[in-house]
Amino acid sequence: MFIANNIAVARPSIRRTGNAGINPIFKSEAQEELDIRRKVLRRFYEPVLILHALDPHRGDRIEEITDVDPALLDITKLRRSFIKYLAYICDYEKGGNTCTSVALQQKPSGVRVWMAANVSIKPKTVQFLHEVLTGLSKVEEKTRDQFHENLMSMVVAFGSRRILDYLSIVKCPLELCISELKRKSEELPYNSKDRNLLAHLQDIQRACGANDHAKLVQECFKARSTTLFTQLARCIQTGIEKCPFRILRHNLGRLGEHAQACKILVQAALELPELIQNFKIKVHVSAKQTKIPLIEKQSTLECLANRFSSNPEISQRLFHRLDTLDRWSRLSERLQDDCSTKTRIHAELYLVQLFHKGQFEFVHGEKYVGCSKPACYLCYEYISALGSGISLPASSNKIYLAWRPPNFDFGMEGPFREAAEKEMEGVLNRMTERIRGHVEEQMNGKMGRRHIHPDSTTGVSTAPDKQEKEFYTDPSDDETSE
Ligand SMILES: [Zn+2]
Repeated sequence: MFIANNIAVARPSIRRTGNAGINPIFKSEAQEELDIRRKVLRRFYEPVLILHALDPHRGDRIEEITDVDPALLDITKLRRSFIKYLAYICDYEKGGNTCTSVALQQKPSGVRVWMAANVSIKPKTVQFLHEVLTGLSKVEEKTRDQFHENLMSMVVAFGSRRILDYLSIVKCPLELCISELKRKSEELPYNSKDRNLLAHLQDIQRACGANDHAKLVQECFKARSTTLFTQLARCIQTGIEKCPFRILRHNLGRLGEHAQACKILVQAALELPELIQNFKIKVHVSAKQTKIPLIEKQSTLECLANRFSSNPEISQRLFHRLDTLDRWSRLSERLQDDCSTKTRIHAELYLVQLFHKGQFEFVHGEKYVGCSKPACYLCYEYISALGSGISLPASSNKIYLAWRPPNFDFGMEGPFREAAEKEMEGVLNRMTERIRGHVEEQMNGKMGRRHIHPDSTTGVSTAPDKQEKEFYTDPSDDETSE
């Protein structure tokens, strides 16, 4: 039996001040504010928990939208790519810890290059970026080729752990693809395309074994625009997520990304030197992980369904959906485990919040925060709900429970702090409404359960065709921005 017990997403009617002499159950102002935060956050996290349980992949990737005058499109893309690739080359490990964001602030004395990461930026990363920016600020057309070579060496050396990870992933599918092509080459009629592909993959196998990572990265980058990638795509078996040709193509594409980064960084430094004029690097310190504000005994299927909607029919349908999931995937147990999730603020949100709250001036007025990985579902929804005018990023559309919004108070005091908290509550309430809508869409079958896809893109195409989309469903890349 369901009892409608909807909690509205509007600001709760809890007093912010009290009088100890009159009210025997007086709470301090600080305690009341803490209670309000917890309530708003619980209302926010419950539909997130449900949506994640229904499907942790909200939908297809979302491409970045560059909404500018077409005449300025190329220069805008170059400027944004420069910022994004500065973040990319600083993200030296696969996984989420070193996921890095960068934004450029214009100050009268020059440019401040702000950086943040999921886990605090290390001094070695600041030193590396300083060396890169110093080199870029001095490059000239006549020294372009020499500097590009030096930059490749620096970038590949700093990202060596990440490159080695890609190499270890590539090794097995590369062997499987070569074996398969050798087998096919013995069949009649003889296929010359397969023979060419086999020869190309054997070259790459030798390059992988040669331990010259800079050369390998450059080769993989060049291969992205050759027939190799088309031929690999031709061999991918549709519907087989672990097809070695699919995994190989994706990770060879990733291996070439550092070379693409160097090319763009040098080009932008020559064409847009003002981006790093008199630069200074500033680091935003990352916050510690905190437990998700959910309580196990309040996170049963029935409790979650009851509180989801004031409409008993919707709550009942949701309960049946969750109960069905529970029977074949032990959802109840997973939800209880989810209540101990440790959350953290994602790299891009530190800088989005910093520039928004501080009303920082972006270089060229370009309200853009670059990140080494596409935004997750919640970061995308947060930036959208904030309405700060900062460009919406590309998104992997993946839902991570281990996510939390930037801190409420943001180090402010007095009326500024209260205004900041009200704004944050507004953002979370708007997100909560949207997420509840997405839960209902999922319940109504408007969004089928998704194929999984890696957070990272291949780098081969920004406008993937059908074949490319298939390719994105590669499960072998476990990169997360979590
Ligand atoms: Zn995120």
